[in-house]
Amino acid sequence: MKKFKIVTYGCQINEYESEKFREFLLKAGFEETDRERDADFVILNSCAVRKKSEQKLLSRVGYIRKLFYEQGKPVSVVTGCVATVKEKEIKRIGEKSVALVMKGTRSLKERIEKLREFLNIEFIEPSPQVKGVFAYVPIIFGCDNFCTYCIVPFTKGRERSRTKEEVLKEVRFLVEGGTKEIVLLGQNINHYGRDIGYKNGFVEILEEVNKMPGLKRLRYLTPHPADFTDEDLKRMRNLEKLCPHFHLPVQSGSDKILKLMKRGYTKGEYLSLIEKVKKLFPEASITTDIIVGFPQETEEDYEETKKLVEEVRFDKIFIAAYSPREGTVAAKMEGQIEEKVKKERLNELLKIEDEISLEKNRAFVGKETEVLVENVKESEAIGRNPQDKVVIIENPKSKKGDIVSVHIKDADKMHLRGIEE
Ligand code: SAH
Ligand code: SF4
Repeated sequence: MKKFKIVTYGCQINEYESEKFREFLLKAGFEETDRERDADFVILNSCAVRKKSEQKLLSRVGYIRKLFYEQGKPVSVVTGCVATVKEKEIKRIGEKSVALVMKGTRSLKERIEKLREFLNIEFIEPSPQVKGVFAYVPIIFGCDNFCTYCIVPFTKGRERSRTKEEVLKEVRFLVEGGTKEIVLLGQNINHYGRDIGYKNGFVEILEEVNKMPGLKRLRYLTPHPADFTDEDLKRMRNLEKLCPHFHLPVQSGSDKILKLMKRGYTKGEYLSLIEKVKKLFPEASITTDIIVGFPQETEEDYEETKKLVEEVRFDKIFIAAYSPREGTVAAKMEGQIEEKVKKERLNELLKIEDEISLEKNRAFVGKETEVLVENVKESEAIGRNPQDKVVIIENPKSKKGDIVSVHIKDADKMHLRGIEE
């Protein structure tokens, strides 16, 4: 029996796709291993969002080539975002060990078909599995936004929505199999349905999924701050399964930089959205993404970002130093910032974010919070609360999949810690 290993980089969409490859291969009779050395072939599902993630992929390809020349196996199958834009380089670095490069712009179905041809196996009906207490369900692939720094529209292609029926069928299957929490996915999830003629597709699919019997929690990633309407927010307020967590990537606090990024909102507009969110969902956590060192970002622009961070007080910020990506508008802009300055701004902001995350988490101490238990070990269980905080439960009585009320005794910047009521 042939053995495979899958390595996944990057976003939740990639995680979802890898899971589909895995289901297909297991159904076809292959066996999974966690060591490249033992595998006959390795699937690398790659991320190109930053230079670093691309380099990680290329060096893994190099490592597999080395194994291939040492032991005549494994061969690699590369897909995802780097495969879209760096096919030649992957083939050069991997030489004969690269068996297949499948662009991330191609549909999952097409790529599974290609894999089937490569492995020379009969057609098999993929059989989905239910694995965890939560599951990702993509509703729209690709992105049409073309923020000037971002490679995603090139690597994942134009927006392609799945039909409501297809999404609901997948959700139903998962929930009937024991999934308690569904996370709907899209690069700009507010655009769901636009390409297939739905009018208020995003909020409508939330409403439909919210009705699913047996489902306990509903989340979604990633919305775009410019695309939230007041009506969306009001209608979301009525969805009892929708978790109170808003991930609203701001990227910068400077209007000049936001314009250069082509984000489609000003700092003022962003803050007014935050205000509405805080008013309508006072219990909600708010998280964001920030890029420091975008071309032409002066000390003053960066100060604006810092001010915004101090003002909003995000629960968590994913901070990145700007990484020029070939083919994007920003990579060719004048005024690229020195690496040293990017690092300084990154490190300073990380420190500020540490303090605020800790403060936000400490606010839960002494309170009760509802935790969906994801994993149980002897003396500890781990899960998340509606605000998406990771909660460690000491001496748990509950089992995986339970929703329990936890009394929080302590918090650090990453976790809350408590005991079951
Ligand atoms: N569609 C989502 C996620 C896109 S990629 C969104 O619009 O938010 C995830 C994050 O990576 C982005 O929010 C951004 O903060 C970061 N990112 C994207 N391109 C980048 C680049 N060239 N350099 C540094 N960070 C980048
Ligand atoms: Fe990239 Fe912007 Fe699309 Fe997000 S919305 S994937 S940042 S282009």
